[in-house]
Amino acid sequence: MHSHSPRLNGRCIVCGAFSTSFFAGVKDRDHQRCSACQATFLDPAQRVPPDEEYARYCQHRNHPEDKRYRRFLSKLSDPLLKRLPPSADGLDYGCGPGPVLACMLREAGHRMRLFDPFFYPDPKTLDGCYDFITCTETIEHFHRPAEEFTRFDTMLRPGGWLAVMTCFLSDDVHFASWHYRRDPTHAIFYREATMAHIARRFGWTCEIPVKDVALMQKPLHTESMYESIRHRKNLREDVTKRIESKRRAWQKHALRKLLAPRVQPFS
Ligand SMILES: [Zn+2]
Ligand SMILES: [Zn+2]
Repeated sequence: MHSHSPRLNGRCIVCGAFSTSFFAGVKDRDHQRCSACQATFLDPAQRVPPDEEYARYCQHRNHPEDKRYRRFLSKLSDPLLKRLPPSADGLDYGCGPGPVLACMLREAGHRMRLFDPFFYPDPKTLDGCYDFITCTETIEHFHRPAEEFTRFDTMLRPGGWLAVMTCFLSDDVHFASWHYRRDPTHAIFYREATMAHIARRFGWTCEIPVKDVALMQKPLHTESMYESIRHRKNLREDVTKRIESKRRAWQKHALRKLLAPRVQPFS
């Protein structure tokens, strides 16, 4: 740990709340923690430069036949496959140089496309719509997580699944010596509660079927933010109209009463 100046109430890069405060400094790396969504993230100014990042990802080239790696990925693919309809359209986002997971999901009968900012950077892939998106060992590398999760929401069809795998930070972890923190390209650490927070924001469901995996589903019938605002506005206009017509009716009634010839009472 080293001396630091705690910066209170900075903006959270995951949920956007102004509720971050200094969490921990290890060597020359400072981390902020958001009290709203529980995300912990590296000071953006201390991220490794892209060429260093790229060099590190190149070391993660995995062979499609690597049994140990397949077993590792099956923590995510097994529970996901149980929930998918047959021959669904999938996207592996942040697949890296050796897309083993996409291989496994194709073997299970699904159509897969790949995206990775370094290895499969075709932006057209991101214009597509998908029944599911997988994102393994990737969300901890995000520099603009709020944008990325919004993009997932846009790309997912109603009823679609987002399956993520990352090491969740928990109270059992000693942060300074945690292996996951020591990877210089890891910019964000999520807790299980962080995933639930993100899911709530988009109206997705969220479950943790197994440690370090989150499955989130976009509802079948979604009312977009725009639609819900319009809906509320219409409701408000309806009420205003009703009040206005009542007021007019009452005015007319009062006027008629005023102008009506007075009936002289019998004396
Ligand atoms: Zn937050
Ligand atoms: Zn990673």
